Amino acid sequence: MRPVVLCFSGLDPSGGAGIQADIESIGASGGHAAVACTAITIQSSQQVFGFEACAAELVRAQAMAVLEDLPVSAIKTGMLGTTDNITMIAQLFREGQIAQGTPFVLDPVLVANSGGSLGNVSTLVDAFLDLIPFATLLTPNTYELRALSGLQDLRAGAQLLCEQGAKAVLVKTSHDYDSGDIEQYLYVDGQLTHESFLPRLPGEFHGSGCSLASYLAGCLAQGMDTLTAVKAADIWIQKVLRAADQPHPDNSKAQWIPHRFAQ
Ligand code: PLP
Repeated sequence: MRPVVLCFSGLDPSGGAGIQADIESIGASGGHAAVACTAITIQSSQQVFGFEACAAELVRAQAMAVLEDLPVSAIKTGMLGTTDNITMIAQLFREGQIAQGTPFVLDPVLVANSGGSLGNVSTLVDAFLDLIPFATLLTPNTYELRALSGLQDLRAGAQLLCEQGAKAVLVKTSHDYDSGDIEQYLYVDGQLTHESFLPRLPGEFHGSGCSLASYLAGCLAQGMDTLTAVKAADIWIQKVLRAADQPHPDNSKAQWIPHRFAQ
C-alpha cells in the first residue's frame, strides 16, 4: 500500500489546518494519512473560538488501532492540545509501540496562525522536552523555536533543540509576516545543512505550517532523506500557496486556504 503516515492532530472545521491539511498534504505526497484526533477546535478561516482536547486514553486507543493494523512508515504530530497527549505519544515511542527508527516529523504547534489559543503554551513547552528526543525533524516557526528553546537567536535555538535530541530542526520565518523573504534553515545534528529563501506571497495562509510538515512526513515515509524531503516540500508548498483560495477577497487580513490539490 501507499506509505502510511500516522498523524496526531486536531480538527479544524474550516479545513485549512489540522487533520484536513494532514490528509490532503500526505495524499499529495503519494502517501496515505491515518489520523488520531487530538482535539476538536471551533474555528473559522479567520479565528479560533475555542477547542476541546481529547483525553489521552482516547487518542492512544485511536493510535493503537492504526499501529496494530497498518504498516506505519512515519509519524507526524501537530496540535496536541494537552501535556497528557504529548506525554502519551512519548510513551508510545518508549514502549516500542511506534517501531524504533520510524521517521517522526514534530510540528510543535503552540498557537494558531491567527493568534488563537490551541493550548496552554508554557505547560506545552515543558512537555515537548519529553517528545523532542524522538523527532527526526522538528519544524518550528520562529515563535515556536524561541518558546521551546528560551533563546532569541535562531541558530543558537536550533542547536539547543538538536542537543535536546531532535535529529534535525527546520526553522521557518513563514509566520513573521512583517519580514521579507521566507527564510528556512535546516540544522542536522546541530550543523546548518541547508538554507532557502522563498519569495513571500501576498496574504496570510491558514494551515501552511501543517501542510509543510505533513508533506515532509509523507516524503520521509517514502524513504527520502531529510534534505531531499525539505527540497521537495519547498517546491510543493510554493505551488499550493500560489494556488490558495481566498475566502474573503474584501478583507486583506483574512487567511487564505492552501489548495493542496493544485497541479
Ligand atoms: N492544528 C490545528 C488544529 C489548527 O487549528 C492550527 C491553526 O489554526 C494549527 C494546527 C497550526 O496552523 P498553521 O499551519 O497555520 O501553523
